Amino acid sequence: MARQYTPVEMLRELVAFPTVSRDSNLALVDFVSTYLAEHGVEARLVQSDCGQKANLYATVGPNVEGGVVLSGHTDVVPVDGQDWSSDPFQVVEAEGKLYGRGTCDMKGFIAVALALVPRMGDLKQPIHLALSYDEEVGCLGAPRLIRAITRELPSVRAVIVGEPTSMQVVTGHKSMFIFETRVRGFEAHSSQQHRGVSAVMAAGRLVNWLGERQRGCAERAPANASFEPSYTTLHCGTIAGGTAHNITASECRFMTDVRALPGESAAEHFQAFEAFAQEVAAEMRDVNAGTGVDIEVRADVPGFEASEDDAAVVLAKQLTGQNDSRAVPYGAEAGQFQQAGHSVVICGPGSIDQAHQPDEYIETAQFAAGNRFVERLIARLS
Ligand SMILES: [Zn+2]
Repeated sequence: MARQYTPVEMLRELVAFPTVSRDSNLALVDFVSTYLAEHGVEARLVQSDCGQKANLYATVGPNVEGGVVLSGHTDVVPVDGQDWSSDPFQVVEAEGKLYGRGTCDMKGFIAVALALVPRMGDLKQPIHLALSYDEEVGCLGAPRLIRAITRELPSVRAVIVGEPTSMQVVTGHKSMFIFETRVRGFEAHSSQQHRGVSAVMAAGRLVNWLGERQRGCAERAPANASFEPSYTTLHCGTIAGGTAHNITASECRFMTDVRALPGESAAEHFQAFEAFAQEVAAEMRDVNAGTGVDIEVRADVPGFEASEDDAAVVLAKQLTGQNDSRAVPYGAEAGQFQQAGHSVVICGPGSIDQAHQPDEYIETAQFAAGNRFVERLIARLS
């Protein structure tokens, strides 16, 4: 007997899997595969290299061209250090809100799509479900999922990425380029600066360069850009180094993310950073030949920019009844789908303001709006 779930029941099931990006998502994927199989839908998995994670895709309805992909990520951000009023992995409903990690970003959208699978029996064109892993740590799982979909499925008319947009139609996001810098210094007593090389002081120069570069981007910001802020940002999010105030630090590491406007190359900023880092490293080596700067790229996620007459944008406008669209500053998998040649739009329930927060929630009204959106899509394709 095939199990049926209301959207809220499905959300409870999905949130109960603590699929924080650093941990396995296989239990959730297994649950979804079993559920889909009960409804006669075969799920296909695309494993991660470590074997602890998997993307899942599945075709509901006939295996023909012209279908629509509903895309979501299964991973959530950690709850470490956050002050939650209730268990983050149990959905709590109160005052028109559903609380729980991932309710908004973005198990809400996935729950709606899955709960409606039993209602997809009359589809003439398919709905493809595409669930990824590791979105929150740099969209690392999606590329192999998108390759599989593009290769294995009949061509699709649109990809809808259900990130929380408060059901607004989103046609752009910035690119995201993440890298780690490791500065290797040389230890000496801090009074002996001419013999030591402080990795912390060198890192300070490099971090300052990021700020200067961003100021330059802000000054050249294009007018009327639909992004807030309307320029490329360069940000150092974490830094660690040194052991004592009176020792020149032997090591300092920091993480940088560059969020570039579509059409602007994040790699170009990165290359300029690398060049400056080499200048700094040359000065360091003048004092001690064993010092240096190593840089490692962690993620390179393309930007996304769709035009108003793209098939996916037109479809999302029809399904939501909206005429306008906007762009968002946060990264998503839309650019990766677009790069693979798909027509893409971002539209999903919940507000990005509640994503990643303690006591993350989705308003039940938004959840219902997400449900209506997928119901209309089903009607449209039936
Ligand atoms: Zn998300």
